[in-house]
Amino acid sequence: MSIGNKVLNKLKEEIPQSEYNRYIKNLKYDEKSSRGDIAIFITNNILSAKWIKTRYAKKIAHLYEIESGIIPEVIIETKKGGSKSKFKNIAVKNKKNESTLLNPSFTFSTFVLGESNSLAYNVAEAVAKNPGSQYNPLFIYGGVGLGKTHLMQAIGNYRLNLGDKIIYNTFEQFLNRYTNHIKTKTMDRFRDYYRNCDILLIDDIQFISRKEQTQDEFFHTFNELHSLGKQIVITSDRAPKKIAGLVDRLKSRFEWGMLASINPPELETKIAIIKKKSELDGIKLNDEIVNFLATKLGSNIREIEGTIIKINAMSNLLRQPITLDFVKNAIEDYLNEKKKSITIDSIVDIVAQELNVKPSDIKSKKRAKKIVEARRIAIYLARNLTPNSMPQIAVYFGMKDHSAISHAMKKIEDIIESDENLKVLIEELSNKIETLKSNI
Ligand code: ADP
Ligand code: MG
Repeated sequence: MSIGNKVLNKLKEEIPQSEYNRYIKNLKYDEKSSRGDIAIFITNNILSAKWIKTRYAKKIAHLYEIESGIIPEVIIETKKGGSKSKFKNIAVKNKKNESTLLNPSFTFSTFVLGESNSLAYNVAEAVAKNPGSQYNPLFIYGGVGLGKTHLMQAIGNYRLNLGDKIIYNTFEQFLNRYTNHIKTKTMDRFRDYYRNCDILLIDDIQFISRKEQTQDEFFHTFNELHSLGKQIVITSDRAPKKIAGLVDRLKSRFEWGMLASINPPELETKIAIIKKKSELDGIKLNDEIVNFLATKLGSNIREIEGTIIKINAMSNLLRQPITLDFVKNAIEDYLNEKKKSITIDSIVDIVAQELNVKPSDIKSKKRAKKIVEARRIAIYLARNLTPNSMPQIAVYFGMKDHSAISHAMKKIEDIIESDENLKVLIEELSNKIETLKSNI
């Protein structure tokens, strides 16, 4: 699907049905005439065109930027009739320091500091105060929903306020932008765009794997900015050395600078985060409830936030106050729902992918150390994240009976006690599995 049509689909989800039917339904993306950073849409009459221009042009540009990494000039044209009405969306053109992709609420002051994230936080703050010097590049890595994007954008927002030009892109947006400029033979514009910033923020670079050509281009962009003393910040769900297919020269560039990991929050930090989030959203939770949520929920902070919002919505809807019992019930339903949607197959796939073994090996009886370890982890996760009983899990993994499963569980629980790395790995895997499912 073309970017323009993707944008129209997204727009449909975001605006009231009646508005959509009235104005947007008849809006067509003109793929032939659009190019690079000019997005042309056609509608059937001038009134609609005007309305769309005032109401939606900015939104369209924003969605377009999310899809492609390019902030386009949006032009709404009418189909036929003598004078083509051109409405240039000047308001959306990248005004001085404006980056439409930074979330203004991702700041240092809204970030809760804890042991698990203090290194990353402190380095990020140092970078914001003094970019392009000590820690360049800054590479932040850690599991899903642990605050990487938040910290990265906190740097962006801080510098934006001081007048710097910030580019924030997910790696995917960088890639899309690159592909678009290649297609339209406008690579010089691509290069100008990236080389004219003070701070480059590239989020989720793990998707760079094996994209040879893009890695080349990224490498050049990186070097040029770096040699000009411009700050580069990168995030990833894993350390550079664990990004499969990352070329060595980039790996070593990333390791030149500062590597800072964010770990899953410990209980205390989770409690502080829940307090802060509910406060920011104006939701009243007493200490008992906060403690309950902190122990019951996993470490993905995005999910924790989502759960708090859901609880609040339910309480409004049912006109019931948020008591501990109310929360217990709400959470139970929610956790059960979630458990049901996670299958052992999906767990095995993710464990296999992360630990570099084959899914079929995990399900086999092979005894190689690496495979045994992966199998044990998969069993542990299956027991914790799905509603399957021990005998059911035994059948799945082709084991004698449930005692083999309880033995494996015991074994891994013992190891977790003493092996911090394994503990973190399991947290990360659980996060990944849960996020994957909640996104479906
Ligand atoms: P990641 O990029 O690591 O997947 P995000 O930065 O998107 O995670 O964080 C997910 C959500 O959790 C965001 O809404 C973010 O504001 C919130 N969050 C994460 N860590 C913290 C923290 N330490 N304090 C406050 N909010 C946090
Ligand atoms: Mg992120």
